[in-house]
Amino acid sequence: MSYLLLYIFVMKTHKKQTHNPLRPSAVRMNMIAACGINCALCIGHHRDKRQCPGCRQMDTDKPNYCRKCVIRTCPQILNSRSGFCFECTDFPCKRIRNLDKRYRQNYGVSIVDNLLYIKTHGKQSFIRKEKAKWTCPQCGSLFSMHREICLTCTAQNKWKGQYSGEKT
Ligand code: SF4
Ligand code: SF4
Ligand SMILES: [Zn+2]
Repeated sequence: MSYLLLYIFVMKTHKKQTHNPLRPSAVRMNMIAACGINCALCIGHHRDKRQCPGCRQMDTDKPNYCRKCVIRTCPQILNSRSGFCFECTDFPCKRIRNLDKRYRQNYGVSIVDNLLYIKTHGKQSFIRKEKAKWTCPQCGSLFSMHREICLTCTAQNKWKGQYSGEKT
């Protein structure tokens, strides 16, 4: 193997090790959007090509609907200390309620619950809870909340469509 090929191989391996979105360590606070979506569980972040880096990151490879999201540029968010909607006097506003309804119905996730949990128990507790909940018990990869099976080993993702909390 030439040095060039060896270099490419090493760099690709290194990139896979340090940027693997399927590892539970991908769940970090800078992956939790202002609206409460955990971007580390998004299929847009898990895909191989044009991987979205998450709401709070640069817009490169972000889909249009998230690039143009009015929640993340809401003046009340931009002026908030926490950077989360729970701090807002209008929370949960109509936009958040609509998004929450869509996520509860389609994916079994309540973004309002996520935000209230962070507000009450803190960021680190939320991260620990999300890692424990969304890690595949069979292979240790992270589930996507948008898929019914683990993308690594095809084990069933029991959480998708399993919302059972309070309705807002
Ligand atoms: S597509 Fe949207 S929800 Fe998914 S990771 Fe990107 S910013 Fe987050
Ligand atoms: S809850 Fe408040 S900060 Fe969040 S999008 Fe609605 S108005 Fe903006
Ligand atoms: Zn798995």
